[in-house]
Parts: sequence; C-alpha cells; structure tokens
Amino acid sequence: MIELRQVSKGYREGDRQHRVLDRVDHDIRRGELVVMLGKSGSGKSTLLNLVSGIDLPDSGTIRVAGIDLVRLSERDRTLFRRHHIGFIFQFFNLLPTLTVRENLLLPLELKGPLSAADEQRCLDLLSAVGLSARAGSFPDRLSGGERQRVAIARALVHEPDLILADEPTGNLDVETGQEVIELLDRLTRQAGKTMLMATHSRQVVGVADRILTIEHGHLVERPVETSG
Ligand code: ADP
Ligand code: MG
Repeated sequence: MIELRQVSKGYREGDRQHRVLDRVDHDIRRGELVVMLGKSGSGKSTLLNLVSGIDLPDSGTIRVAGIDLVRLSERDRTLFRRHHIGFIFQFFNLLPTLTVRENLLLPLELKGPLSAADEQRCLDLLSAVGLSARAGSFPDRLSGGERQRVAIARALVHEPDLILADEPTGNLDVETGQEVIELLDRLTRQAGKTMLMATHSRQVVGVADRILTIEHGHLVERPVETSG
C-alpha cells in the first residue's frame, strides 16, 4: 500500500539544512495497522504529510496504492487525497459551520453528486461511532471524544484505501483516548483498511501490527511485544 524509496526531506534553518528524513526505505502492506512512535519533532507529521501527498520529498519516490505521488501535479495530488486517503488530526478539523451530518457528507460531495446511498452511508457510520443522535448538532456542541469520533467517521466515509492519523488522541484525556483508539482499530479492521498512525502515546501499542520510530531521520522497526 505504501512504498517509500530513498525518501529524504529537510527544512532550511537560516543558512543550514535540517534533514528530517534521511533516505528512508520502507513498505507497508495492505491491511496493516502501523504505529509510529517517537519524540515531538522527530518527523512523524512530516512523513504523514508526504504519504498523503500534502508535501513533496526533496528526493526519493513515494508510491501509495501504486500511484507515484512525486510525478503527480498538485491538482492530481489533491484528487489522489480525496479518493485514496482518510486523514484524522489531533485537533479534529471539523468545519464549525456545518452540522455533524454535513461534515460527513463533505468528502463525498468532493468526489461527485450525492446519492441516496451516500446519505445512508453517513447515517450508518454515525451509528457505528455511536453518534446517531447528534447528526444535526454543530461540532462545538460535542465533547472532544465525540468530535474525534465524527472525524473518524469522516475519514472512512469515502472508502479510502489508507487511513492516516496524526496524534489522534493528543488532545483527549487518557480514557477517552483509549476509547477512540479502540473504535479506530475496530472500524479500520472491519473495513480491511490500512492505517498509519503517529503518536507519542504508548496507549496504542496494543492495537499495532508493527511499530516504527523515527530516529535521526531513519525509520526503525521496533518489536511490538517490548514496546508497551
Ligand atoms: P513530529 O510530528 O514528529 O513532532 P514534525 O514532522 O512536525 O515532527 O517535525 C520534524 C522537524 O521538522 C522538526 O524539527 C520541525 O521543527 C521541522 N519542521 C516541520 N515542518 C516544518 C516547516 N514547515 N518548516 C520548517 N521546519 C519544519
Ligand atoms: Mg507531529
């Protein structure tokens, strides 16, 4: 599902270049749930932004679902994201002027005219995340955990191949975070999706198929059983 070949990415700091990812090679297979641990500033968000096609590497190639992202135009990368990627953010990123239901419909509207099946899919997903009663609510009426459950439904609604989650529990208390992780694990596995999740919480280790860390620009695989 994800193929990284010699991927490097850095940022200019004054007159020197700070290399965040240094010739990273890695593959993630379809259906895997991979967790990226690592200190703040180690490059987790940078990697997620490359895999989602938000950003481009300085060198190397990135293939997602067989598509070479580096060769796409910016517009085609936007279309790629709309079709293939579901993204979950630390701060939920729901649109405040839209209801829960309208937030869920948005990724489908971006793909084309809405059908009755689309409406039904939103209702089914709201039910799957336990928020059927809140379809007409605005996001600011919901708790943090409820907002993240809406965001999970939104990330799945357009049936993407790949779910990317950047610190999805970073703004939640421990117990709510655990509930969100369990929900995410259950829904993505049910749908047979691939998921790459960045976090610095060790709570998620229990659900991971594989654990990666970024150290000095390199992606390092950690044994699952000893990382908890
Ligand atoms: P993480 O998500 O693991 O906390 P990031 O990927 O956000 O780490 O950042 C990795 C490094 O790259 C940090 O040193 C950060 O300051 C730097 N960085 C990230 N984005 C930018 C940017 N747009 N411009 C300059 N430096 C950046
Ligand atoms: Mg980050």
